[in-house]
Amino acid sequence: MAAELSEAQFQRYARHLILNEVGEAGQARLMAARVLVVGAGGLGSPLLLYLAAAGIGTLGVVDDDVVDLSNLQRQIIHPTAAIGARKVESARAALHAINPEVTVETVARRIEAANAEALIDPYDLVADGSDNFTTRYLLNDVCYRLKKPLIGAALAPFEGQISTFKAYLGPPHPCYRCLFREPPPPDLVPRCETAGILGAVAGVMGTLQAVEVLKELLDLGSSLSGTLLLYDALNAGFHRITVPRDPDCPTCSA
Ligand SMILES: [Zn+2]
Repeated sequence: MAAELSEAQFQRYARHLILNEVGEAGQARLMAARVLVVGAGGLGSPLLLYLAAAGIGTLGVVDDDVVDLSNLQRQIIHPTAAIGARKVESARAALHAINPEVTVETVARRIEAANAEALIDPYDLVADGSDNFTTRYLLNDVCYRLKKPLIGAALAPFEGQISTFKAYLGPPHPCYRCLFREPPPPDLVPRCETAGILGAVAGVMGTLQAVEVLKELLDLGSSLSGTLLLYDALNAGFHRITVPRDPDCPTCSA
């Protein structure tokens, strides 16, 4: 049964509570939820800010990096004063400033094969805000094994893509490897540091991730599982691609 909301919580979450689709039961679900966000960068910044504002009970933040002046053009969770500080600590301060009720669990390490299961297991859901294929495939494989929904997004200079992966539910749900079997060769992958990005594009995609996280937690609307949503900033367009499950997928067909 849902815990009673305090008077301050009634006010803080009033615009959720008034929605039939959220209400007190939905807000209690958010407040009991544990969400792991991998990467406190361009995607992770708006994602974490909106999840904290929404009242997610526990937010895990994994990032081994420190704040650099060149990050601030898009990584809006970090203020200028945090340059040189660990991103997880800078993020924690920003999240507590927005919503002191959120418990922030920080991990100032890189997520890798040796620690991924232990890091992910205590959470209900994972949102991938990382900027590299190694992490993306690792999160896909571990979330599949641990039966955790994974909301992934990726950025290009003027484009973004997002999907949700719940292949552990069985067909027709695909996993990330059903969509992209192998990582592209490293020299074909432009990263923000080398390719550049219009900062607000990261904001759009990270915010879409926050919306999809909240939808999954609240069981609202249509899940993005099985759909890749593409954002084309220059043409101001979105389009959707259906992602079939690959019967020979090395991750989810076994
Ligand atoms: Zn698969």
